[in-house]
Amino acid sequence: MAATYDAIVIGGGHNGLVAAAYLAGTGARTVVLEGRHKIGGAATTESPWPEAPEFKVTRLSYVMSLLPPTIIKDLELDRHGYKIFPMGPYYQAFPEGGSIKLYADDAKRNYEAVSQWSKKDAEAMPKWDAWLAGLADVLGPLLLTVPPALGSRKPRDLAATLRLAWRHRGLDVRTIADVTRLMTMSIADLLDDWFESPQVKGALAVNGVIGTWAGPYEPGTAYVMAHHSIGDVGDGHLGNWGFQEGGMGAVASAIESAARARGAEIQLNSPVARVLVEGGRAVGVTLANGAEIRAKVVVSTVHPKIAFLEHVGAANLPDDFVTDISRWKSRSGVVKINLALAELPDFIADPGTRLQEHHTGSVEMAPTMEYIERAFQDARDGKPAVRPFSDGVIPTAFDKTLCPEGTHIMSLFTQWVPSDWADEPHEAELEAYADRMIDCYNELAPNFKASILHRDVVGPYQMEHEYGLVGGNIFHGELSLEQLFHLRPAPGFADYRTPVPGLYYGSSATHAGGGVCGIPGWQAARAAIADRKAAVSRRRTRRS
Ligand SMILES: Cc1cc2nc3c(=O)[nH]c(=O)nc-3n(C[C@H](O)[C@H](O)[C@H](O)COP(=O)(O)OP(=O)(O)OC[C@H]3O[C@@H](n4cnc5c(N)ncnc54)[C@H](O)[C@@H]3O)c2cc1C
Repeated sequence: MAATYDAIVIGGGHNGLVAAAYLAGTGARTVVLEGRHKIGGAATTESPWPEAPEFKVTRLSYVMSLLPPTIIKDLELDRHGYKIFPMGPYYQAFPEGGSIKLYADDAKRNYEAVSQWSKKDAEAMPKWDAWLAGLADVLGPLLLTVPPALGSRKPRDLAATLRLAWRHRGLDVRTIADVTRLMTMSIADLLDDWFESPQVKGALAVNGVIGTWAGPYEPGTAYVMAHHSIGDVGDGHLGNWGFQEGGMGAVASAIESAARARGAEIQLNSPVARVLVEGGRAVGVTLANGAEIRAKVVVSTVHPKIAFLEHVGAANLPDDFVTDISRWKSRSGVVKINLALAELPDFIADPGTRLQEHHTGSVEMAPTMEYIERAFQDARDGKPAVRPFSDGVIPTAFDKTLCPEGTHIMSLFTQWVPSDWADEPHEAELEAYADRMIDCYNELAPNFKASILHRDVVGPYQMEHEYGLVGGNIFHGELSLEQLFHLRPAPGFADYRTPVPGLYYGSSATHAGGGVCGIPGWQAARAAIADRKAAVSRRRTRRS
């Protein structure tokens, strides 16, 4: 006999757990099926060094900003262990000497920091911040909006399109132009419009290329910057990021705890092999071990190529949809390097190994836009970057739970290696790449290399094969213009529903993803709950 539930969630990443918490909250008997031995997906805290289990790293994702207060409140995540330390400034030390710190929310200190490099840029900075805040007022609420099926003539879709247009009726010509520019420009061109100093532009360009298979001169990277700049970790400071105590795995654990408290079950080591489709409807799943589990609602939160091409199968889907998912772009060339350090980096520009402010935020290796672009061009030419760029952080500046006192964890989010490195492990080349990355930091902080106690290098192949991040893309699919909003993951199916009734889709490959934001899981659960309510009310009407 197949086990039966009201709802099955495929994937125990943070989105799957959010979906399960909301579904279980309505009283639905809900089970999460996770393929790995632990929940969290890309939001995971692990001990990668068996010889030193006392060191824990946030192995993939590393900072929080995008989880909306609605979800935090609804799921009472604070009560379940969600605790964020807001990060310090962006910090870049320069090979030619000096450094810059940029603050998310301190105009006075930004003025002082930037005016060392350019008075004109220091004057421009508050205007830039205000401009971004204005755009965040438009884009922020859009993240929580279900994209309409633009072009559809169905009354429900037309109504949704009109509602969206009505909500934005207050926008003026200039705001629409600014949003259009943001969506279509490169981060390099955008920053050239505002700033003159290479140091300021390098520091501000980082968010435009995070996780992206595109250098800063590629159109669309301005939007990637905005995506990374409109969250506030719930503290009301726009663009602020923070560290979860216990690493990103603790975010997943808090959501897991909330889901369990509402009655959801979580089964680990339970890879799904197929979604069962009968009479055109999803009716359950088959696990890799052959067991069948049935439910009227199935929510998938795994990569779209796995969810649709492997689990549902082309035979159960419309041809256009299969073509769209087959063409889904999922590259990024990211390598995560996790380090255990005996002491903090001692920068020539800001000496000392005692904890100082510049250790508390992003410790960047992105001295200029040209530096970042060179790293991308190397990878585009089929080679790993000679001098990779890195968004580094030291969460243990605040979080004392990850390593023994006196030591530190440093997490380097680096780019790029060739996108096809997801096909082969490239282990020796990844180690050489990590050596070069470490050398780059060592030029700025000469104690760095010698301070490394342990290191862990995770490349695109491991991201795909161990974590299900196909192509090594960190967001289940690139945040490129042709994959945003009503096109994410496919035209006509951006409302967290799929061509198969009963099957909902809530991974980072839907609108508002990627990132650890929970919005896709929340929206997919809401769509399932709304459809169930509508079906119940239809049945009641028929009976009466
Ligand atoms: C290196 C890296 C750095 C990042 N940094 C940040 C950051 O700092 N901040 C941020 O906000 N975001 C960051 N991201 C992005 C963010 O982590 C992801 O967008 C997000 O975690 C994805 O969540 P998800 O629940 O949609 O999918 P996932 O986390 O991928 O979860 C999907 C789950 O499904 C499971 N699964 C796969 N196949 C099956 C199957 N057949 N059966 C059952 N289960 C299956 C997987 O094991 C996984 O647990 C980063 C990502 C990476 C990789």
